[in-house]
Order: sequence, then structure tokens, then C-alpha cells
Amino acid sequence: MHKGLIVQKFGGSSVADVKRIQNVAKRVVSYKKKGYDLVVVVSALGDTTDELVELAGKINPEPSEREMDMLLSTGEQISVALLAMAIHKLGQEAISFTGAQVGIITDSSHTRARIIKINADKIKEELSKGKIVIVAGFQGVTLTHDITTLGRGGSDLTAVALAKELLACECEIYTDVEGIYTADPRIERKARKINAITYDEMLEMASLGAQVMQARSVEVAKKFNVPIHVRSSFSNNQGTLIIKEVKRMEDVVVSGITLDKTEAKITICNVPDRPGVAAKIFGELSGAGISVDMIVQNVSHLRQTDISFTVKKAEFSKAIKLAKRVASGIGAGDVLEDVDIARVSVVGVGMKSHPGVAAGMFDTLAKHKINIEMISTSDISISCIIKRKFAKTAVRALHEKFGLSK
Ligand code: ASP
Ligand code: MG
Repeated sequence: MHKGLIVQKFGGSSVADVKRIQNVAKRVVSYKKKGYDLVVVVSALGDTTDELVELAGKINPEPSEREMDMLLSTGEQISVALLAMAIHKLGQEAISFTGAQVGIITDSSHTRARIIKINADKIKEELSKGKIVIVAGFQGVTLTHDITTLGRGGSDLTAVALAKELLACECEIYTDVEGIYTADPRIERKARKINAITYDEMLEMASLGAQVMQARSVEVAKKFNVPIHVRSSFSNNQGTLIIKEVKRMEDVVVSGITLDKTEAKITICNVPDRPGVAAKIFGELSGAGISVDMIVQNVSHLRQTDISFTVKKAEFSKAIKLAKRVASGIGAGDVLEDVDIARVSVVGVGMKSHPGVAAGMFDTLAKHKINIEMISTSDISISCIIKRKFAKTAVRALHEKFGLSK
């Protein structure tokens, strides 16, 4: 009867209200009855984390990161307790734990802590007593007992890390959509669910705006080869498998189109073209904890050049202030800002062996009279920064162009 261990993670929308929590409990119990050992990771109910972030902002617009972790980690503590109660109601044994209680040890970079190690003894002990173990997602604790969180969407990481540590046979990520799609189905009605996708493609898609899984968690899954199944908590349908290699009948060049509207663009004009200037600009930004994404430097005319880069909107006001200061310090010109941008990307491992994807992408955007403001590439993706108002048109056009609607 003993079938091995499954880690199941339920996102906020899967536990948004009483009925949904009861549904999750039913699903978990049905797996238990099939003979699986279960470790269940839960996110905070619905939009709790966003609400807590907002609340903190009203108290102090620049809250301490340590206190932020203290606050945000409460969301998951609520869900695990409620889920345990719901499972008890169904007559099964279950026990809930915080990240600290099950020994998820992290470094001390608050709000984006990294997991150092997991002491899974406590979980194993409870599993051996036949209990369903429920663990609060998104949180850990430092060696000096400070509560930390693992970055937004971090419950995925908790689940993947536990699956690795406990040698689970599968890590199921339950969400409110049926899996990973070729494009956001809310934008492109013809988007299709992908049956299987590689870690690399998923990582690229997650980093480029597909919101279903936290990018960091995919990185860890890839590193330790943890098989993931992303699926809906509202149906029993097969979702998307995320695995090392996907054997496809026919060549797939592009696997999906992603859209990211969370960035803004800053341009520093007339930057003196001499060694050390870029180091100065980006050194200052990184020193302030601002991560820069796409960077473009133009060719220089008359020993001056323009440098454009994108940052997360959340860090935009900090970044623009700093850019203005650095610009005047190095004798550069105006600093321009554009918050109405979007990044549209095409992703696919098949690109490595098929030339012409970039040309196809640019051509498609041109046909729709969409101007490309910045371009960046990796070996399995091409991204363009465009005006935000063209975002949907671009996604639909590229979805069609690369034959993803079929
Ligand atoms: N509740 C946290 C968040 O919203 C963690 C998660 O949902 O995975 O970011
Ligand atoms: Mg969440």
C-alpha cells in the first residue's frame, strides 16, 4: 500500500476561502487514502500577502526588511493551521509547522533569503507516525532565530526544496490555472496548455514574466532534478510536467510567449564615453540593492553615448533618483524615464538549432507597426521592450506567427 512521498503545494488562490480550504483538505486526504505520504506546503490565503505589504506601507513607506518578514510570515501561519483543522475534520491526522519549526535555515538577507539547509528530521518523524505534515511556505529562519522570507512566490521554493530534501517522487504545484500555457490565456484565447516543458524553458519563462511559478524555485528544481507537476486545484486534469528533457514528436522552435509589465526604463543621455563610466553607474545602483535588467548602450558619437536600462517598477523611484545623481556626477546629460513599457519575449529550446527566430519576431512586430525600443537575447529567448499599449497585440501576433495556436 505504501507508495512513496509526494510534496503538494497550494497557492493563495487555492486556499482563498473556507470552501477552497475544505477542497484542498479533501484532495490531500484522497491522496493519503491512496497510500502516499504527504507533505503539504501552503501559501497565505488569497491576497493576504499583498494586503499585508499595503498595510505596512501605510505605517511606514520604507519598512525595515526584518519587520517585513516578521509581518508577511504570519500569512502562511494562518493557512497551515486552518488546513490542519480542515483535515482533522475529515478524520485524518495532520500537523502544521512554521518554516522555523521544521528547520528551514536561511541566510539573513531579509525578504529574499536563501535556504542554507533543511533539517527534515521533524517532518520525517511525523510522517513515520502516519501524519500528513503541513508546512508554511515562503518562510525560514536564520541561525540566530530571525524569521525570514524567500522572496515573493517563495512557497514554490519551499515545496521544491522539501521535495529535494525528502526525496519525494513528485512535487505538485497546485494553482488556479490548468498548467503552463503557450501565452497568458487571458490575453490570447487560443493559448494552449503545454503538456511538458524543460526546466530551462520554464526558468526562462518564469524570469520573463510567466507568473505561474517562482523563477528561483525552478532553478533549484533544475539543479536537483526535482520533477514538477503544475496543475489546477479546481480539477483533476493533468497539468504541465516540468522535467529535464522533453521528447517531442516534431521540432518545436518556440514554446511560449511571455509578457512582463513590471519594469520601467531609464535612459542617461550624453554619457562621456570613457572607461569606468558604466561601472560607476551600475556599481552605484547595485550598491543600493537595485537590480538592473536589460541594458543597452548605443554607439558613441563625439565621444558621448546614451545608456538605457530597465528596473523593476517597485525600485523605480529609488533608481531614478540615483541615476540623476550619478549622471550629474559624471558629467552626463538628461535622465529620461519611461514607465509605459512592456517586455514581450519568445522562449524555446528549439531556437538553439533554428536560426531566424529573431528575424521572425522583429518582422512580426514591424508588420503591426510596433516599434522595438530595446532588444536582448539568451540562447533560448529573445525579448523586446515595446510601448505598453502594444503589449497585447504583440503577444497575439507572435503567438500566431510561431504557430502556437495550433
Ligand atoms: N504568500 C507569498 C506571496 O504571495 C508566498 C507565495 O504565495 O508563494 O508571495
Ligand atoms: Mg501568493
